[in-house]
Order: sequence, then structure tokens, then C-alpha cells
Amino acid sequence: GLPRVRVQTARKSAGQTTMQMERTFIAIKPDGTNRGLIGEIIARFEKKGYKLVAMKAVKPSKELAETHYDALKEKPFFGPLVEFICSGLVIAMVWEGTGVVKTGRQMIGATNPLESAPGTIRGDLGIDVGRNVIHGSDAVETAEREIGIWFKPEELVDWDQTVKQWIYE
Ligand code: ADP
Repeated sequence: GLPRVRVQTARKSAGQTTMQMERTFIAIKPDGTNRGLIGEIIARFEKKGYKLVAMKAVKPSKELAETHYDALKEKPFFGPLVEFICSGLVIAMVWEGTGVVKTGRQMIGATNPLESAPGTIRGDLGIDVGRNVIHGSDAVETAEREIGIWFKPEELVDWDQTVKQWIYE
């Protein structure tokens, strides 16, 4: 399962739901890497205050892409999607922080970039649904599964984000 995170306990402030310290799987797709958007995308998560715990550059195998998108295997776009993901460089990452799964999805924006709000990654950087620049896990359980597919446990780095006292109250 997900390694226990020791840096911060869940906090509840008035009017907010309790958000948990958690991890999400984020991948910059081949359109994003080809277009030179790696730095731009990493910068958004970094500036937000989230903690990078793993990152690697991969050209995914067909098996990896099919396993990752297994839930979509009946969709008409599954074949082209797998082919696209395997077509070039993917930057696979694990980010950690309070509410990072849901907030990460909000930072990414809607699946179709034409419907993603301006200010989101897809809203700012994409047009076509088949070229939407980035992947982000849609739930904590999905994140756990995806991290396990893309990373070995020893690739998740245990380090102290020393600025955390300026990010978390
Ligand atoms: P998300 O990536 O936002 O979680 P989905 O899990 O529904 O969205 O789909 C996975 C990926 O499949 C999308 O990010 C997109 O690249 C691709 N995709 C989804 N819907 C379509 C579609 N109608 N046509 C082409 N590609 C699609």
C-alpha cells in the first residue's frame, strides 16, 4: 500500500473539509514533452508547494500504457491513446501534499482542453482531447495503483521538504 507519510497530519480549519496528506501520479504526455512544456508543468506543482517524491523520463512500452489505461480498454479511442502514450517521452512523477489528488486534478483541468478553465494546465496549454498534455490520478486508490505501475517502491524518495513550515500551518 501507500507508504505512510509522516510530515504532516490532516488538518481541519473552519468551513473546510478535512484534507489528507496523500500522493498522486502525474505524467507529462508525449505532446507536452515534445512541445517543451516539462518545466512549465513541473513549475506549477512546485510553486503550489507540493513535494516531488519521484520522477523519471520514460518511453513507455505498450504493456505499460495498456495497464495504465486498463479501465478504458473498451473505449473507441483506447488504441490511438495507447499508441500516442508510447510514441515518445513521458515524464512520470509522484507528488505529495495535502489534497494533492483532487487539487492536482483541478490544476490540470477538464479532460477536454476546450472545456478546461483558463488557468488550468490543459486550459492554458491544449486544444484537442487526444493531445491534452498531462495525466493525473482521479482518486487516492487510483493514484496508489498508478504509482505501483510506474515506480518501484525504492524509487519513491524519502526526503524532508524543509520549507514545509512555510507551506503548512
Ligand atoms: P482524464 O485523463 O482527464 O482522467 P479519462 O480517464 O476519461 O480522462 O481519459 C484518459 C485519456 O484518454 C484522456 O486524458 C485523453 O488523453 C484520452 N481521451 C479521453 N476521451 C477521449 C476522446 N473522446 N477522444 C480521444 N481521446 C480521449
